[in-house]
Amino acid sequence: MSGELLLNPGPVTLTPRVRNALAGPDLCHREAEFFDLQDDIRARLLAVHDLAPDDWAAVVISGSGTAAVESMMASLPGEGARVLVIENGVYGERMTRMAEVHDIDHDTLRLDWGEAIDMAALSARIDAVVPTHVAVVHHETTTGRLNDLADIAHCCERHGVALLVDAVSSFGAEAIEFAPAVTAVAATANKCLHGAPGAAFVIVRRRALARAVPRALYLDLAGYCAKQDARGTPFTPGIPAFYALAEALQEHAEAGGWSARRDRYRQLADQVEAGLVERGIERLLPPGVSSAVLRAYRLPPGVSYDRLHDGLKTAGYVIYAGQGTLADEIFRISTMGALEPSDMTRLIETIDEIIAR
Ligand SMILES: *Cc1c(COP(=O)(O)O)cnc(C)c1O
Repeated sequence: MSGELLLNPGPVTLTPRVRNALAGPDLCHREAEFFDLQDDIRARLLAVHDLAPDDWAAVVISGSGTAAVESMMASLPGEGARVLVIENGVYGERMTRMAEVHDIDHDTLRLDWGEAIDMAALSARIDAVVPTHVAVVHHETTTGRLNDLADIAHCCERHGVALLVDAVSSFGAEAIEFAPAVTAVAATANKCLHGAPGAAFVIVRRRALARAVPRALYLDLAGYCAKQDARGTPFTPGIPAFYALAEALQEHAEAGGWSARRDRYRQLADQVEAGLVERGIERLLPPGVSSAVLRAYRLPPGVSYDRLHDGLKTAGYVIYAGQGTLADEIFRISTMGALEPSDMTRLIETIDEIIAR
């Protein structure tokens, strides 16, 4: 297989082992074999952060990462809830859209894309809005900024507010402290866990499910959890994606878990960053605030995104454009997936050639 190397923020380049798992046996989702697979995935997801199954549930949903985030957003704020959404990129704004679509009382703490979340500002906003829940994106893939989840969780705890987290592009490769305020964390198979697209999940505190309400039939988080706890499933799951996720979780654990994966991503990202900075290409964000998962860079003067993208694609690399107003200004490189330092060396060399042309 000679596919391109994916440097976009998911789906990722798969290992041969995970790709082979996709071709598992045909399975009926009402048979014991499927429930064994589902149980295995649910247990392995909790094990990523050593969470106790009595207190936490991993609920698997067939769909993209957005399905998991929307299931969390549409289910956990109960009757009379008010959600304060922190926005500093596309994905925070998407959570506000979810609150709108599901008619959930909400307010926003709106920041510029890439701006840091100031704890005093958050605290003041919580005092003003008096929410029951705060919703935040852990790693804002829009810019690569890693928001300070631990500080945000502690701020929520001081105010007695529950925290809902979009960790779609960080779960499995960044630290997540499951502090008391953290009520649910939504993520997906096909980013830092190196699974295939089609399976997503929410890690939720079991006691929070008691107050959940089903605002959408397909995205009813408490309904999924009840069925899955009873070795069932409400709908037909994306079984190949489940096979791949089970294999990917095994591979993740064998390779040393989330911290080893973070170190690996960071090594690759630092290599790319050093190479680009040496060539005068600027980071979008100051050093030290980006995730290990993805970094954003300003396009070099006179080089359009299309020229860079197309040149790299010819050489076998897929990079990612900026979103919204950043589309003409930046490019993004993710170091998720089955990638090697030698791939990054050749990437930098190819960028050199494109700029020189
Ligand atoms: C990728 C991503 C999502 C979800 O994207 P899907 O295309 O639905 O999988 C949500 N939030 C963040 C932060 C992401 O990076």
